[in-house]
Amino acid sequence: MLYDANKGQQFADTKFDLCIVGAGPAGITLAIEMASAGTRICLLDAGDEHYSIESQELYKPQYKAEFYEDTTFNRLRMLGGSSNHWENNTSEFMPNDFLKKDWIPNSGWPISYEDVGPFYIRAAIYCQTDTDEYDSQKWHERLNRTDPLINVEGMITGIGKASLPPTRFYDVHKSKLHSLRNITVVKNANIIDVTANMDISKITSATFSNYKNVRFEIDASKFVLAMGGIENARMLLIFNEKYDNKLGNSNQLVGRYFMDHPLLRAAKLYSNTDKDMGLLTEQKVVGRKVILGFMQHTDESILANKLINLRMPIFKASSLQLSDGIESMHVLKEAISQGDLPENILKHLLNTIKDADEINESIIRKLFNTKVLSYVDEFEEQLPHFDNRIALGYEKDRFGLKKHTVHWRFHDEDFALAWESLKSVASQLAMNNVGRLRIMEEFQQRLQNEKLYVSHHHMGTTRMAENATEGVVDSNCKVFNTANLYVAGSSVFTTGSHVPPTLTLVALSIRLANHFKAEKGVLT
Ligand SMILES: Cc1cc2nc3c(=O)[nH]c(=O)nc-3n(C[C@H](O)[C@H](O)[C@H](O)COP(=O)(O)OP(=O)(O)OC[C@H]3O[C@@H](n4cnc5c(N)ncnc54)[C@H](O)[C@@H]3O)c2cc1C
Repeated sequence: MLYDANKGQQFADTKFDLCIVGAGPAGITLAIEMASAGTRICLLDAGDEHYSIESQELYKPQYKAEFYEDTTFNRLRMLGGSSNHWENNTSEFMPNDFLKKDWIPNSGWPISYEDVGPFYIRAAIYCQTDTDEYDSQKWHERLNRTDPLINVEGMITGIGKASLPPTRFYDVHKSKLHSLRNITVVKNANIIDVTANMDISKITSATFSNYKNVRFEIDASKFVLAMGGIENARMLLIFNEKYDNKLGNSNQLVGRYFMDHPLLRAAKLYSNTDKDMGLLTEQKVVGRKVILGFMQHTDESILANKLINLRMPIFKASSLQLSDGIESMHVLKEAISQGDLPENILKHLLNTIKDADEINESIIRKLFNTKVLSYVDEFEEQLPHFDNRIALGYEKDRFGLKKHTVHWRFHDEDFALAWESLKSVASQLAMNNVGRLRIMEEFQQRLQNEKLYVSHHHMGTTRMAENATEGVVDSNCKVFNTANLYVAGSSVFTTGSHVPPTLTLVALSIRLANHFKAEKGVLT
């Protein structure tokens, strides 16, 4: 049943077994999974069924780092969360992603691939990307394509699958949510506070506000925060200010180790003309989904050569957007050929100077008709850095809650490992006659600044760890030193791999549901 907090509707019950805050992919999956256990669930979301400025502007930060994107709009504050504008690209984490690596400080989940892997197929059903696996060899056979990396040591073609159109989690799953009698869905319900018991070990209720400032409380046996990678940390920090950092923040780690997947575009591939690049350069539509190939290292190579994981799809240079410099060059050429000078001539001149290397490259390509040049997009696994963080500012939102601040940069250590990993790719591709990779190391400063893109994958701010000195939640996503407060979503990721996070965070929600069911003795 769907209730609207703005209409002050009374629900049949205000006492629940499970209160889930946030109805994005993480919260929706958890609610549906738990319904079969006969649990009385309340799933509350700050947004409506449609986008509203009133809700969205509550995502506005007080401050964000210079080269990070605006966190007001890089997520959506409505039922279904950011799945309302995601691309639905899914792949699985690899076994190495969960391991502790001595060359990656703060790495190592307290769980392994074997703990998450069994839930991927069910997660793919929620994401509507089908149960037909991510096995590269099978996809090449099925699509009758040759895998160019088949004999390349240390590298494999990874497979991504995206549903067509992308799965909007609320739209797709709402009929189930509304029809299940033990799920109460409440929209326009903003969490603003929690109340803990005397020794602050247990949450007894959570307070919500609608947009008319009418407040109400929900009592539950368990509470799960599922508000996305930034908001989970922000609200937990706010609750910790009231409770003396006893809600999982005794070591001041809430909000720390914020990670994204930076997109570098730091290499160009001159592939051999006779080489069929298979699924690496072609996206194939199969039924209701797109199959996307990308280069990646194998588990063995990452561990043996102490590398970082990269996701490397290949794009023909001609299919890419022009750079500012090339665009300005065209504007100048056009104006001068008409005996004129363009408006903003200074801006155009500056752009051409700044992008002189790209202009050179494109002129040479045109002159020599080099069609085989491709860009390799590197979606980078970012190291978990202590100083990359979501913190609280001093400005307050309409509910009197502190806004968040975003502190994020791509460190020199991230670059060092990215270059190492690219060098390993370059030598393997060359040795196996696939092509020549030109690594643009000299480009580092620009890649670190205005040419750095991120993927809107917000991870790591309530990280999973063995103990409270290293993280915020335990291996069952329970906030350390609490009895009934949990976190769902990519904020629990200890490290982020290069893989888009949603399939894995949905798998973790299913795993959390299984944990709750096992506690209840109803796991079948
Ligand atoms: C443009 C874009 C493209 C993307 N593409 C991909 C992709 O291809 N593949 C991939 O894996 N991932 C992708 N992502 C990331 C993906 O969208 C997220 O990983 C996913 O949505 C996270 O799910 P979630 O449920 O944890 O959080 P969210 O989707 O952020 O949902 C959080 C929910 O909490 C609610 N909420 C927030 N604050 C409060 C509050 N105070 N009280 C109550 N409720 C609250 C929100 O309204 C929202 O419904 C993309 C993201 C963007 C922005």
